[in-house]
Amino acid sequence: MKYLSEYRNPELARRYLEELHRVTTRPWTIMEICGGQTHSLVRNGIIELLPPQITMVHGPGCPVCVTSIQVIDEAIYLAMQENLILCSFGDMLRVPGSTISLLDAKARGADIRILYSPLEAVQIAIQNPQKEVVFFAVGFETTAPANALSVIQAEKMQVQNYSILASHVLVPPAMEALLSDAENKIDGFLAAGHVCTIMGMDEYYPVAEKYKVPIVVTGFEPLDLLQGILMTVMQLERGEYKVENQYARAVQQAGNTMAKASMEEVFAVTDRVWRGIGPIPQSGLEVNNRYKKYNARLRFRLHIPPAAENKDCISGDIMKGLKKPVQCPNFGSRCTPEHPLGAPMVSSEGSCAAYYHYTSGIANVKNTIADEV
Ligand code: SF4
Repeated sequence: MKYLSEYRNPELARRYLEELHRVTTRPWTIMEICGGQTHSLVRNGIIELLPPQITMVHGPGCPVCVTSIQVIDEAIYLAMQENLILCSFGDMLRVPGSTISLLDAKARGADIRILYSPLEAVQIAIQNPQKEVVFFAVGFETTAPANALSVIQAEKMQVQNYSILASHVLVPPAMEALLSDAENKIDGFLAAGHVCTIMGMDEYYPVAEKYKVPIVVTGFEPLDLLQGILMTVMQLERGEYKVENQYARAVQQAGNTMAKASMEEVFAVTDRVWRGIGPIPQSGLEVNNRYKKYNARLRFRLHIPPAAENKDCISGDIMKGLKKPVQCPNFGSRCTPEHPLGAPMVSSEGSCAAYYHYTSGIANVKNTIADEV
């Protein structure tokens, strides 16, 4: 584990923290986009060690959290069909739809399989030619290439009973939507390293330029995050708004061109509704016309009506950086991982789950929005 330990070196972490305390002169609000980064920040106690002027807010970087209720209802509807196998990543099962979750549907007899790869779903389709097999394809730019590959594979193998329920979302349009919000308080972003591993950095330059915000592509280990925050604060203190790459060991300027090519082969950009946030133009991916026979929405003529959000869950405000999980009145009381009211408490990348699992209570979580902004 030598490689990882290098990115968790306490002495180096102390030096980054000292430097952060030295250079920070004013209040700054920085959003990390990715739920994996949120968990690392909270799990490693980094938020509590930052200078008091720095407020970290937690963005909409959890695919489970942002998948709309309507799409979950679509998945539940499909799962309840006879002779249909719905394949999904495990985290999606406990997320509430408008009435029930996929887990409830499974308890009622739906054939729902938990997979780690969409290619497994293609295999299931081959093994079950008498059934329809649908893969619930959620995620950001990180999972889209593998889901696209499953469609390409199905086409290549002439699999007739496979389709995907695409619910992909794209990060840069979401950043623009947050920055355009009149209530927005975000001064700078840590961009998600793994998304940029696929997509590269080019999409971020216009965002940084238009909204005058620094964007630092950042990894997931404690030292990555501390260095990413330091790079962001140094830009802010100097009045700069550049795109920088902290995660150069994994992210190249152009990203992964093969992965991008498979995405572009199968998907087209579309408008998408984000749970808790609402519709964001051109922020999703849908199966394109060329591969439309693999589009579950068309194949099963889905017309599920939009459903209202649960008003008790303030996840939208959390994902916009306006509130912290501990500021939700239901955090840890009516809403727990065992009995979640909202997706961010269900998901392994959700910010509410991070605070629930890794902080010992509200008193220990300094740096709430109310304190700092
Ligand atoms: S604590 Fe629960 S109800 Fe509150 S925002 Fe988080 S998921 Fe929603």
